[in-house]
Amino acid sequence: MDILAHGLWAGLGLRWLARKRPAAARPGIVAATVAAAVLPDLAHLLPVIAWAMFDGGSAAEVWRYAFAVPGTEPDLPAWAAAWSHHVHCALHSAPVAGAATLLLWRWRALPGLVLAGWWSHIVIDVFTHSAEYYAVPVLYPLSYQGFDGLAWNTPWFLGLNYLTLAICAMVLRRPPAATPPAPSGCKELD
Ligand SMILES: [Zn+2]
Repeated sequence: MDILAHGLWAGLGLRWLARKRPAAARPGIVAATVAAAVLPDLAHLLPVIAWAMFDGGSAAEVWRYAFAVPGTEPDLPAWAAAWSHHVHCALHSAPVAGAATLLLWRWRALPGLVLAGWWSHIVIDVFTHSAEYYAVPVLYPLSYQGFDGLAWNTPWFLGLNYLTLAICAMVLRRPPAATPPAPSGCKELD
């Protein structure tokens, strides 16, 4: 999915969760969770930016790389291509995210939502990329096999996704329905 939609879905997920767990609306939690939801599509640009800054690349080629469709990527030097590739694969990998989750599980009260932001990126991407459009190597480093889903840039899906985001945002703007008072549980005795 595109980076903006990843961030918006994570933000809406937090807004929904905050109805039950107000801590989910804390600005620091929101910023860290949304960052974790978009980082997998940004971090792999760092080696390409380093190439542009220090090894002969250019800003135009970084731009071309960031918005490339299969077969139109610029030629990167081997080191930048390898780093970019492995960073992208690792941040889209269920085994890598699973290992990080297990490592941090003891302290999950704090990073739990941030990890959920990362997981949301992986799960959404698995189904919104296709064999022709950068299928996500969700089992990296065990396999490069990806799921042949529906590419997020399919025009009707892109429109439907943002329409759904807009509807969810409107629904979540409304305050939650008031909860009726709980029954007392025992009758008053005469
Ligand atoms: Zn992604």
